[in-house]
Amino acid sequence: MKIKDDRFNRNYEVDPDTGCWEWQASRTKDGYGQLFHTYYNILKQKEAVCTAAHRYSWRIHYGPIPPKREVGHRCDNPGCVNPDHLWLATHSENIWDSVKKGRWNKSENTGRFKKGVSRPNLWARAFAPEEIRDIRRMKDQGYTIEETRATYPASKTAISWIRNRITYREID
Ligand SMILES: [Zn+2]
Repeated sequence: MKIKDDRFNRNYEVDPDTGCWEWQASRTKDGYGQLFHTYYNILKQKEAVCTAAHRYSWRIHYGPIPPKREVGHRCDNPGCVNPDHLWLATHSENIWDSVKKGRWNKSENTGRFKKGVSRPNLWARAFAPEEIRDIRRMKDQGYTIEETRATYPASKTAISWIRNRITYREID
């Protein structure tokens, strides 16, 4: 899917290995692409705004981002603007997603999550065994993924993987 938007198209290069569209223009310190553009506000004044490039990509390919939603990266590459690699998440899903990918650490002292050094085992500690069993019990009792997420906030994928024993296979 390629869209006619030169300001966007001239600023990325496709990585043939990952399929990621690597943003070539300016980036934030976290690696997110940035796009500067101007528009005319309701007073017909010219204003310059800075948009996250992956959010811009979502808007031009799929339309407006609903309120309180975030655009996350399936590929875990913050500089990627490939619309096929983007997904719409709530803030908590986006955080869970990055926890799952080991990008957040639970502080030993405070028990709060903070962004830090990768620790791949963390996701394994995000749910206690009794929670895993309860999530699977809910599936057996006919609860939907959405209903399960109301009790155990996590991405649909995370819940689905637990239900289908893709993750936490060691827990009976
Ligand atoms: Zn990507």
